[in-house]
Amino acid sequence: MVDRQIRARGVRDRRVLEAMTRIPRHLFLPAGRRSDAYADAALPIGRGQTISQPYIVAFMTEALEPADGLRALEVGTGSGYQVAVLADCGMEVWSMERLPELQRSAAEALRGAGIGDRVHLRLGDGSKGWPEEAPFDRILVTAAAPAVPRALLDQLASPGILVAPVGGPALQRILRVRRDAQGRLSEQPLEGARFVPLVVDEEGAG
Ligand code: SAH
Repeated sequence: MVDRQIRARGVRDRRVLEAMTRIPRHLFLPAGRRSDAYADAALPIGRGQTISQPYIVAFMTEALEPADGLRALEVGTGSGYQVAVLADCGMEVWSMERLPELQRSAAEALRGAGIGDRVHLRLGDGSKGWPEEAPFDRILVTAAAPAVPRALLDQLASPGILVAPVGGPALQRILRVRRDAQGRLSEQPLEGARFVPLVVDEEGAG
């Protein structure tokens, strides 16, 4: 998977390649889907949600410029696979999911992969971020929204990097937003992608 789908398409970050070689992706899939775990595709994980294609996980993690000891927030835990990759790259990860069943199976998979104690999971609307733990050096959104939620930009450290798929439901562009040491924001469009939507819960429902 790593050689043919990820290295071959230009991902070079050593941490990302090593993390994705190490982490058993099949643990993050429902029992009936495990035989497809290393396929070059996004796969259903229940409740209409998907685990991202391995290449997209690698691409977004590389775009985030991972490094040891950084604090990273992920919005959209889903299967938990992306959490595992971020943690294996040396970062401390806080990840939010709005669907309890998915959060439960992600927690179990992370325990199975031996990284359950290095990550923090929370149930709730991740578009509002995790203010008690902010600021974050890195923020990764793995669900599509028409714009980067304001709360997440507010919770991005200075300097910091946020990566998110931005656009309509059918197609998005992965954006990288940098905040420099002076607090100035700049935006860089990267590849096209297709994510499930970021669902913004009504006040009080999350
Ligand atoms: N990173 C995941 C991919 C998740 S798909 C993985 O590696 O498997 C996107 C996930 O975002 C879904 O599980 C969906 O339920 C969740 N989601 C959508 N809107 C959300 C929100 N506002 N807050 C938190 N999670 C959200």
